Amino acid sequence: MLPLLRRYFAQKELIAHLANKNALPVKLLAVSKTRPASEVAVLYKAGQRDFGENYLQEALKKQQLLAHLDMTWHFIGPIQSNKTRDISRYFSWVHSVDRLKIAVRLDQQRPVNLAPLNICLQVNIDEEETKSGFYLDELPNVIEPILALKNVRLRGLMAIPKVDKSIHEQRLSFKKLADAQEKINQSFDIKLDTLSMGMSGDLEAAIAEGSTMVRIGTAIFGERAKNTV
Ligand SMILES: *Cc1c(COP(=O)(O)O)cnc(C)c1O
Repeated sequence: MLPLLRRYFAQKELIAHLANKNALPVKLLAVSKTRPASEVAVLYKAGQRDFGENYLQEALKKQQLLAHLDMTWHFIGPIQSNKTRDISRYFSWVHSVDRLKIAVRLDQQRPVNLAPLNICLQVNIDEEETKSGFYLDELPNVIEPILALKNVRLRGLMAIPKVDKSIHEQRLSFKKLADAQEKINQSFDIKLDTLSMGMSGDLEAAIAEGSTMVRIGTAIFGERAKNTV
């Protein structure tokens, strides 16, 4: 774990350099999918508080094992309708809302004794058939109905661009997302404050384009087993 953490901190310096503005702090979401609770606890001891998970059953087990620690859990994986009840109950954030119907269910099922669920809309920024998410031109139609929901709080946009791209192309994709967010803020007179973009392979580009939250798995924990996402 220690060498990996060192790699992360080296990366943080790189990030600060690339961001090149007295930067808004970029939040690190540690993506702990497939990693055991013991490794998550080590990162917690090092000061990390926000953790991202993709698979509901795996996440719930880990949350139980780590229930004594004060962590913020983010759901970042694909969402089937029959999973929204548990997701709305056991997470503080959902980054992967890709249909209006999912936002409505999360809103209806969020327990009333909890603060509103923070959500980001996932955008299929490079219009890939294999990826989920809203297309950019669909966004204007869903913002209003989502803003009307009381138990979810729209915080921003999330995207996973194509993988095999140059830094330049990565930046173009992230810029599309950042521009879309700015346009939404202007048209709806709101202040979405979260751009969830950047993973181990493209975090530099994401931060250069204004990411406020990078979702990092491999660069912190090391490679995942091949047959996992
Ligand atoms: C797995 C995953 C990540 C982390 O990816 P790494 O390349 O390991 O940093 C980030 N976001 C989402 C949505 C993921 O599924």
